[in-house]
Amino acid sequence: MTSEAQLRRDIVDVCKRIYEHGWFAATDGNVSIRLDDGRILATPTGVHKGLRMTEDDLIVVDASGKRVAGARDASSEMRMHLAAYQERPDIKAVVHAHPTNCIAFSLAGVSLAQCLLPEIVFTFGSIPTTAYTTPTTEEVPAEVRKWIKKYDAMILDRHGSLTVGRDVFAAYDKLERMEHVAEITYRARMLGPIRPLTRDQITRLQQVGQELGLPKREVCESCNVCEGPDEGMIRRVAEEIGRSIR
Ligand SMILES: [Zn+2]
Repeated sequence: MTSEAQLRRDIVDVCKRIYEHGWFAATDGNVSIRLDDGRILATPTGVHKGLRMTEDDLIVVDASGKRVAGARDASSEMRMHLAAYQERPDIKAVVHAHPTNCIAFSLAGVSLAQCLLPEIVFTFGSIPTTAYTTPTTEEVPAEVRKWIKKYDAMILDRHGSLTVGRDVFAAYDKLERMEHVAEITYRARMLGPIRPLTRDQITRLQQVGQELGLPKREVCESCNVCEGPDEGMIRRVAEEIGRSIR
């Protein structure tokens, strides 16, 4: 069992890493860990989590979100974390950040749910983008509840990312991987039309994943590609190729 003192150090460590990547600006974002007694250790609101937050700034809230320890206030975004913990008894940590490429994709209305890279199929199944919700309102946790039962990582439209895991480092790793996928996808799209994995390739990846004992992931819930490219896509690709050789 990891001591609370160590878990506090882990949160500060993860926040520094997120800030160094540029996925927290100023006081953005929040990280939490569910303690063994069901209370939640979390970053407070209004503190720069990369530069100025210490282990003593962290707060503890009960399962309903009421602060039970610490001097600072909880973030209004804690409700997102509580929703995730309620829907997922298996998880121990939640990371919410504002990763640049993931947010840019949501602003452009481009989904990352397509099966583009084998590691997406293995790690996430798919990366859904939630509907837009008004910050600080009940809409935010309600929307998270819709997706968190099936997915460990998601993009919050015009807002950021939410990732969960068995510990805070696992939740952080999913953020890092998701943003890396977004960065690769961005660059690939700059080069031309992208080629999603085919349905056969995805089926094979799922078989291999099961043989390796990886958890079974939902794929392609919001992906319209794996059923095979539609007529429109074939035409667009053909036109693109036509233009480039003319
Ligand atoms: Zn946020």
